[in-house]
Amino acid sequence: MLPSPPAREGQLGFLYLPPYRVQGISVAGEQTSIQVPELDIGFDIGQCTRAILSVPTIALTHAHMDHVGGLPYWFSQRYFQKIGGETHMPDSARDGKPKVPVGRCICHPELEPHLKALMRAWEPLERQRTPHEIVGLEPESTIEIKNNVFLKSIATKHTVTSVGYSVLERRSKLREEFRDLPQEKLRDLRSEGVEITRQIDIPLVAYTGDTAPGEFLVRDEFSEAKVLITECTFFEPGHGDRAKTGMHMHIDDIVRLLPIWKAEAIVIVHASRRTTIHYARERIEELCGKDASRIHLLMDHRTNRQRFDRQLAEAQAHVDAKAGVSAQLEVSQEETETN
Ligand SMILES: [Zn+2]
Ligand SMILES: [Zn+2]
Repeated sequence: MLPSPPAREGQLGFLYLPPYRVQGISVAGEQTSIQVPELDIGFDIGQCTRAILSVPTIALTHAHMDHVGGLPYWFSQRYFQKIGGETHMPDSARDGKPKVPVGRCICHPELEPHLKALMRAWEPLERQRTPHEIVGLEPESTIEIKNNVFLKSIATKHTVTSVGYSVLERRSKLREEFRDLPQEKLRDLRSEGVEITRQIDIPLVAYTGDTAPGEFLVRDEFSEAKVLITECTFFEPGHGDRAKTGMHMHIDDIVRLLPIWKAEAIVIVHASRRTTIHYARERIEELCGKDASRIHLLMDHRTNRQRFDRQLAEAQAHVDAKAGVSAQLEVSQEETETN
């Protein structure tokens, strides 16, 4: 008898949630690697997919192997393939060393020395010093990842030290009391050194990472995000205890959070391998009511593919409609000219 061919390797989940793409692979205990290309960020790197090589920054939520295993490979491949341009390190910190392609990993400060030791361990094995930046970021702190776009770390609750992240767009807004003043007056005030604007942070995309439910999940950084990527490991009724033991979320926890979370799109990741996508989708329909339409499962390839095909068709219809209108306008222009 002939042997059966190997199982197909994991396919990347993909969602277009304008203006963001959320893509990656996430299966509880096996691997979670998610990226949002528009924000130059990857969240966790259980395994290094080809696609995630292109993001310059990986934000780690915690150091379970299914979230961190691909990190040394990611650094090494970015170096090998010369991806990434220049280091984020300021000149003063580089000690005169040349600028080299490098990736940056952001993590909880407790993880930083261990991840650095992990990278050092590879040096005698590979006989190469792979350039890397590992930056410990305290919970409640932010770091810039793009022009005016900041990553904020928020402590979460898991079986090991863990954080979630919110990507914030920083804008400066005119203070209320100056709103009705004319431009010249504002200019004068500014030149006198008066602070006429205040800074506001607008949550764009947030990611919970592995976590038990907690009050931190109702904070603005999560509840106001336009796109919220959340773990939900268990869907079966009666699996609440398993979720508690592993310090994960159950679909019942998500249901409780839905009225608070304003996101246009909620992306569920980290479902257990034992849960079929079909069953997870059924449970969402059953429990989430009208909110089900804004909930997506990253690994629901078929539904997400159909959704993207619809998006493509709509975009094409819009292009066609525009072409139709401009053709009509041209005809009426000709008519006016001949009349
Ligand atoms: Zn995990
Ligand atoms: Zn974990």
